Amino acid sequence: MPGRYQWQNRFRENVCRWTVPREVILALLSRTTEHLTAKDIYGSLYSMYPGIGLTTIYRTLELLHRLGLVHKVAAGDGQSRYALKREDKGDHHHHLICTKCGKIVDYRDFVQEELELVKKTEEALAKKHNFAITDHNIEFLGLCEKCR
Ligand SMILES: [Zn+2]
Ligand SMILES: [Zn+2]
Ligand SMILES: [Zn+2]
Repeated sequence: MPGRYQWQNRFRENVCRWTVPREVILALLSRTTEHLTAKDIYGSLYSMYPGIGLTTIYRTLELLHRLGLVHKVAAGDGQSRYALKREDKGDHHHHLICTKCGKIVDYRDFVQEELELVKKTEEALAKKHNFAITDHNIEFLGLCEKCR
């Protein structure tokens, strides 16, 4: 589980300043496994940090995403959702996204064929494009139980 120290290091490596919004947003994301929108985060932080506006939150989330600290899921409702990337391998998951209500299901109980397919695909792509693949992001879109 990454902590403050690792986050600060990541910022230093990328010559980014460690600021209050960056710290409190990371801290908030580290306390939940939910995928939050900028508005969710604004709602949670507003009472304690009224100085942090929605625009700052949007920008900070994009920065955290570029730094590889959070993963970003574009749900069907047009609002991106963000969750902290946890370093431990056990946290790796794929997403099922409802394009109607934006519900996100994280799953870690991968289908065996899926793991083989991902592995083979990565190997083939790495070879074909001479590309060192370090991660992937798999999303399936559709309708959840409530929306179908
Ligand atoms: Zn995977
Ligand atoms: Zn739904
Ligand atoms: Zn996720």
